[in-house]
Amino acid sequence: MTEVRAKKALGQHFLTDQKVARAIVDALKIPGQAGNDGALSFPAPTGHPFPVLEVGPGMGVLTQYLLEREDIDLRLIEIDTESVEYLLTHFQGMQGRLMEGDFLRLRLEKLFPGQFGIIGNFPYNISSQIFFKVLDYKDSIPEVVGMVQKEVAERIACPPGSKTYGILSVLLQAWYDIEYLFTVGSGCFAPPPKVESAVIRLRRNGRTSLGCDESLFKAVVKTAFGQRRKMMRNPLKPLARAKAEREGWSEDALSAFLAQPVFSQRPEQLSVEDFAALTNLLA
Ligand code: SAH
Repeated sequence: MTEVRAKKALGQHFLTDQKVARAIVDALKIPGQAGNDGALSFPAPTGHPFPVLEVGPGMGVLTQYLLEREDIDLRLIEIDTESVEYLLTHFQGMQGRLMEGDFLRLRLEKLFPGQFGIIGNFPYNISSQIFFKVLDYKDSIPEVVGMVQKEVAERIACPPGSKTYGILSVLLQAWYDIEYLFTVGSGCFAPPPKVESAVIRLRRNGRTSLGCDESLFKAVVKTAFGQRRKMMRNPLKPLARAKAEREGWSEDALSAFLAQPVFSQRPEQLSVEDFAALTNLLA
C-alpha cells in the first residue's frame, strides 16, 4: 500500500519532518519524571509502562518513535480507514493497540481503568473538542502533548489580560500547567496547512478543588466569554437573575448585586481564582 491520500475533512496534514516528530515524542514525560516544578500530581513510578493514547496517528510519524519507548504502553485511535490499513501493514504490534473510530466518541473510562496520557498531532478542526474531552477526564489524564494550530496553542497557554485569553484558557489552566513548547512551520507538513502550528504540553497541576461548584464555574466562564468585549454585567445577568429568584430578591436588590465592581470587568481580565470567586457569588 502506498501513502494515505490526505483528506481535508479529517484535518489530515501529515507531519514529514522527522526531527519535529521526535521532539514531540520526547516532550512526553511520564509519571515519575516530574519536572523541575515539583507540583505535579503524578502517581509514583511503578516500573510498568504508562498507558498513552495517540489521537490520529495517520501514517505513524509519531507512532514510530512512541513504539520505541519502553516506558509507554501505546494505544491508538484513528478515524480514517485508509490510515488504519496503512498502520496495520507498516507497523508491527498494531493488533489490539490500534482502534478505528472517533476519539470524541470514545468511552475512555472503559479503555483505561487508571491514568493515561494523550499525545497527537491533532486534527485542527476538532482540537477544541479534544481539549474539552480532556477536561471531562482531567483526573485520569496527568499529561497531554499535542500539536495544534499556533493560535489555539497561544490561546490555551496565555495568561489573563491577553487578547486571546478565552474559555479554554481558563478551564484548562484551572487544572493544568501549560507550556508552549515550540512553533512548527507549515512547510513541515504534507499537504502544508494554511496556518502555523505549535506544540504544547499540559501537565495536571496539584489542584483538587476550585472551591466552588464546578459545573456552575464552567457555565459562568462560558457565559462570561459569550460577549468577551463587554462588561460581564451583560452576559451574566441571566445567571444573576436566577439567583435573585432563588433568593427572593427585589429588582433593586438584583441591581445592587450587579453593581458590584467585579461585574464591570471584562472576562479576559479574570484569573481562574477570580472566576471561582465570581462563581461563589452567583451560587
Ligand atoms: N499524526 C499524523 C496525522 C496528523 S493529521 C501526523 O502527524 O502526520 C490528523 C489525524 O487525525 C489524521 O490521521 C486524521 O485521520 C485523524 N483524525 C481526524 N479526526 C479524528 C477523530 N475524530 N478521531 C480520531 N482520529 C481522527
